Amino acid sequence: MDQPPSGLDALDHAHRHALAWLASLERRPVPPQASIEDVVQALGAELPEQGADPAEVVDLLAKACDAGLTGMPSGRFFGFVIGGTHPAALAADWLVSAWDQNSGLRRVTPAHSAVEDVTSAWLVDLLGLPAGSAVGFVTGATMANFTGLAAGRDTVLRRVGWDVAGRGLQGAPRVRVLVGAERHDTVDLALRYLGLGAPHAVPVDEQGRLRADALHEALAGTPAGPTVVVLQAGNVHSGAFDPFPDAMAAAREHGAWVHVDGAFGLWAGATASHRHLVAGVDGADSWATDAHKTLNVPYDSGLAIVRDPAAVRASMGMHGAYLVHDEAGEPFDKVPEISRRGRAFPVWAVLRSLGRSGVDELVDRLCRHATAFAEGLRAIPTAEVLNDVVFTQVCAAFGDDERTQEVGRRLLADGTAWMTGSTWHGRSVLRISVSNWSTTSSDVERSLDAVRRAVEGL
Ligand SMILES: *Cc1c(COP(=O)(O)O)cnc(C)c1O
Repeated sequence: MDQPPSGLDALDHAHRHALAWLASLERRPVPPQASIEDVVQALGAELPEQGADPAEVVDLLAKACDAGLTGMPSGRFFGFVIGGTHPAALAADWLVSAWDQNSGLRRVTPAHSAVEDVTSAWLVDLLGLPAGSAVGFVTGATMANFTGLAAGRDTVLRRVGWDVAGRGLQGAPRVRVLVGAERHDTVDLALRYLGLGAPHAVPVDEQGRLRADALHEALAGTPAGPTVVVLQAGNVHSGAFDPFPDAMAAAREHGAWVHVDGAFGLWAGATASHRHLVAGVDGADSWATDAHKTLNVPYDSGLAIVRDPAAVRASMGMHGAYLVHDEAGEPFDKVPEISRRGRAFPVWAVLRSLGRSGVDELVDRLCRHATAFAEGLRAIPTAEVLNDVVFTQVCAAFGDDERTQEVGRRLLADGTAWMTGSTWHGRSVLRISVSNWSTTSSDVERSLDAVRRAVEGL
């Protein structure tokens, strides 16, 4: 091997700290053991006049941060919808930083462009989406929602003769946007970025699924015109999926662009056991999903998928125009930014490591653990599972709101597991999201024991 340039023993130090951190996950409490102030103190708030050796700096960083780290990659972290890091993705992510490929331009990095092409084809195939769809490697589902909705906004306005790239939105025909009442807040955020304002909320059923009949009514009852409908694959509380075929049919009658937020739920399409949940989802125009949740890739990794590559290129390309006559287009035509890291490398690595059956098995296993949680919870006195557990999400209550919140506090103090307190349908809930590849049945048992202890102590 070539001799490495000086200063690079910092990488060996980082490697050792990384392995020590990963090894500690099994025994360390999942919640952090130091406050922000503690970590600031350990780091030192002043920027020193004199610098330091890179290896020393890495040691200082690791030492000062250790107690302030949360066990998010732990198999017993069930908060938010987080996901861990598969070893293949993590190792590839180290190479991403070392290789330092700016991946915005196709010909500048043949390696990344090749990996992005291959990975894109694998992804649309695994998720059951139309072959040839454009796949943009973005930071997360928020930006994926933004990207899909930008293509949608511009397309529906183009159809009525309005060119957003040239004329902006001032004076444009109004775009009506319809979403389920329980969409993720980041959909609203993306709509704000896009200058579309607050959407029209369509009523949902008891699992938080948009009601297709209500969508039908809302479409008939609001002024017609350029229309965007946002559906959801995976409600963060219940895990429920919108009724795609019926909702899509209603949207089509009104010429709407249909976007699907499937940040974690779109992965149901990669399993034989849960594929029925996303039946018909391939009829949409754009889809947002994360690789950093269900697929267990490190941050920041989201996927913006658009059926018509020309539509996303017109919105996101540097020279926005609907018909650009070059074959492949540039990677930056599919995402909001120009310069970016080689995000396709870790996604390729985890897919290559798992293979088609491994992805199926991963998603299926997360769902089986969620079901085991629901069963275990039902056996705990006063515990109630509030949702139909169809995917990876479980919402539980333990009597009144005060008791449920107290169980959440006791769990955090116990440290065995992390579950998120939330409010769903007017009730305090404890939410369990099973999203980590490394979660085992024994992690589920240990976590259920912790819930049992918290309830018994009340
Ligand atoms: C997490 C999530 C988002 C936002 O994704 P980020 O990756 O955090 O940007 C959007 N929608 C749903 C349903 C989610 O679960």
